[in-house]
Amino acid sequence: MKQGNDGGSPVRGSGRGGPVFSDLGIVLRSHKLGESDKILRILTREHGKRSAVAKGLRKTTSRFGARLEPFTCVGLLMHKGRSMDIIKQAEIKTSFREVREDLELFMRASAMDELVDTITEEHEPSPELFDLLRKGLELLKDFPDRATFILAFFEFRALAVAGFQLMITACAGCGRSTGPGEVSFSLEQGGFVCDACRGDARGDSGKIIRVSERTARLLAWMSAHGLGEWPDDVEEGRVEGELVSLMDRVLEHWMEREFRSRRVMKVIPGGSGGDSEGGNRDG
Ligand SMILES: [Zn+2]
Repeated sequence: MKQGNDGGSPVRGSGRGGPVFSDLGIVLRSHKLGESDKILRILTREHGKRSAVAKGLRKTTSRFGARLEPFTCVGLLMHKGRSMDIIKQAEIKTSFREVREDLELFMRASAMDELVDTITEEHEPSPELFDLLRKGLELLKDFPDRATFILAFFEFRALAVAGFQLMITACAGCGRSTGPGEVSFSLEQGGFVCDACRGDARGDSGKIIRVSERTARLLAWMSAHGLGEWPDDVEEGRVEGELVSLMDRVLEHWMEREFRSRRVMKVIPGGSGGDSEGGNRDG
């Protein structure tokens, strides 16, 4: 009944619902189940994205304090289940109530949750993405005036964690370094392209986006810095509109492609190791 103990997560056998593990989690979504239970989708730090049942959540006597709402960061003790875990204990680390109660912040935090939900597979740990989401939510809470930039920067970083690093300082087509005058962004190739490569891509005219030099410089800054650092002119907000619409189109394009490739994966027999046993996972 004993499994390897990986990374500070005490695992022991239990009579019902599989082994118990502890982890940090951020609630991505919650749905009501019956009178007083909730089904939660949670991104845990060490155990990936998981679905879990919290029983008796909405009863006033609930030991969870009835507060496992989206964005909440919690320390969890859970029974590992076959398809769904059972939450035994939840200790709130950060409620992010300020984010939930402000419509603008709520919308941006929801976009973060949704993106994370989309780019993660069930039970696949990504501590880096967990830390990024937690940081993004903290920044929204602490710097509400910078919410637009925070979300765009979060999206940029989250895509990189998911293995989709935008090509900013070199041509995405041929790899040569791009000069300051080259501001054609190719959705198809995932980055800036030089004039020659832009010519090649002309057939996909709708997939080339012209951006201003300021936005190009900001993207270069973003590719060299981490979420939580600020460019000098972040307060000005002048490039935000262009940056936001560029990230919107990048996400839309990338996700469409991802979904297509995932559908293909599903019809290849044995293409992805199914987790029907739900047992030994060493990451
Ligand atoms: Zn090129």
